[in-house]
Amino acid sequence: VMNGQREFDYFALALQWPGTFCRRTRHCCSSNACCRGLNAPTEFTIHGLWPDYNDGTWPACCTRSNFDEKEISTLLDGLEKYWPSLSCGSSSNCHGGKGSFWAHEWEKHGTCSFPVIRDEYSYFLTVLNVYFKYNVTQVLNEAGYLPSNTEKYPLGGIVSAIENAFHATPLLVCSKGSVQELHLCFYKDFKPRDCAVGSGIHNDMISSKSSCPPYVSLPTYVSR
Ligand code: 5GP
Ligand code: 5GP
Repeated sequence: VMNGQREFDYFALALQWPGTFCRRTRHCCSSNACCRGLNAPTEFTIHGLWPDYNDGTWPACCTRSNFDEKEISTLLDGLEKYWPSLSCGSSSNCHGGKGSFWAHEWEKHGTCSFPVIRDEYSYFLTVLNVYFKYNVTQVLNEAGYLPSNTEKYPLGGIVSAIENAFHATPLLVCSKGSVQELHLCFYKDFKPRDCAVGSGIHNDMISSKSSCPPYVSLPTYVSR
């Protein structure tokens, strides 16, 4: 399609668990939602919506469309709440510059979602809509998987709760036994589908990414 990259096959909505991610933030800084105690009761927040190929690879940085915050000014309240940056400092963009987490995600991933999503405003609006429609935190809470610094939960139970709710298998990414990310996958019409479909040589890559231990935790954010 554009930039010589072929059209993607499906979307992954990457969500992050602040209680796990924030543990690796060494220095507090005003730009960092961990330090501001955002999402303190703990819920999954948005990392990004990623166009992927079925073989386990993905396109990146597909057009020269630079992020412009003015285009999403009507969405900022929702984005600040549900798509906060949990890192300190700025993120690199596709062209060697520095920008916000949102700029990074739009330029690296959003620009590759053509022709399903054609502009920056549609990308961010779509991500918020999909995030609200498939409320992972609510599904896990209702299944008894509540944020805790003492409990550990069976990985299979968490996966089953998501499968029962959305009829598709998510992908989990852990850090030191805690859930750091949960990915939900979608066909181009945003019907849910399984995430890990890779075949052949990419199987290793995909299964190593989802290698959480059999019992995992969903830690609450502890301010430092
Ligand atoms: P990590 O090495 O932390 O898993 O991923 C680093 C970056 O590579 C992510 O922030 C994301 O931009 C990209 N990435 C990792 N895995 C995937 C994937 O499965 N699909 C896509 N589209 N990008 C990914
Ligand atoms: P990806 O892993 O999607 O390529 O991009 C992650 C980039 O965004 C990194 O450069 C990282 O420093 C920056 N970033 C800013 N805020 C966050 C955040 O809350 N979570 C993650 N995973 N990366 C963030």
